[in-house]
Amino acid sequence: MNGAARLPRSSLASSGGEVAAGLAERSTAVAPILEIERLCVSYGKVQAVREVSMRVPAGSVVTVIGPNGAGKTTLLMALMGLLPSQGRIRFKGQDCRGSDPQQRVEMGMSLVTEKRDLFGSMTVEDNLTLGAFRNRRQGRAVRLQDIDRVYALFPRLKTRSTQLAQTLSGGERQMLALGRALMARPQLLLLDEPSLGLAPRIVREVLHAVAQLRDAGLSVLLVEQNARAALQIADEGYVLELGEVALHGCSEQLLHDPKVESTYLGMLRAEGMP
Ligand code: ATP
Repeated sequence: MNGAARLPRSSLASSGGEVAAGLAERSTAVAPILEIERLCVSYGKVQAVREVSMRVPAGSVVTVIGPNGAGKTTLLMALMGLLPSQGRIRFKGQDCRGSDPQQRVEMGMSLVTEKRDLFGSMTVEDNLTLGAFRNRRQGRAVRLQDIDRVYALFPRLKTRSTQLAQTLSGGERQMLALGRALMARPQLLLLDEPSLGLAPRIVREVLHAVAQLRDAGLSVLLVEQNARAALQIADEGYVLELGEVALHGCSEQLLHDPKVESTYLGMLRAEGMP
């Protein structure tokens, strides 16, 4: 993923997009899967997200980039119902007002936090099994099939299935966090900085998996500081600054936008990021 060129969907599909099929519940909706209107989130008197409006078309990756403290994590927490917010959140056309995080998981949202929140003293496989909580009624056979699909997406997790999560490398932990979220068979994946602390090669591997999942029908809202890597797999992007949408466009446009280049892409190139 060097240079500013985007990875076309077809190149990903032909390199194993089918691996992800089944983990993603393909949405047949024509309307956006997620619509956010004038969302505001505050910590006491500090307004961290201000009048943010966004749309995630079904089956696409939309990335949110921006500097530290822009409100990206706060936005995801509010979408998941983990923080109170004002404004409107519609998921699959349904107003999310009044629904708690568990209900949003039941509706088909899944969040992978920046901290990855694994159960460190449990094995890889047990962490994946816990992720299947939403589908607990579907039985063991379905669960094992879903675990196999996660292993097909991230083969190195299979070789570590009995290893404790706390002994995994940073990249493996991210893969497990993503895999565990997929076990809930979400329709919308909210991903907070999956590249955080990872080597460029692992960042590419993780984001390649995200693109494969998108090609299999999953919708993804991807928060990233690594703007270049995110825009290379995303369909659209939003730039969040001081809690507000400063820019929105298709990824190709943003990759060549002078402001985005100078503020968010040049810096990463200098650091040798992908
Ligand atoms: P980063 O990329 O560094 O993770 P971010 O874009 O995700 O940043 P947030 O973590 O959402 O930004 O923070 C947005 C603003 O809200 C910041 O000014 C931050 O200091 C503030 N903030 C975040 N969490 C809290 C909290 N629990 N209490 C008070 N203020 C908070």
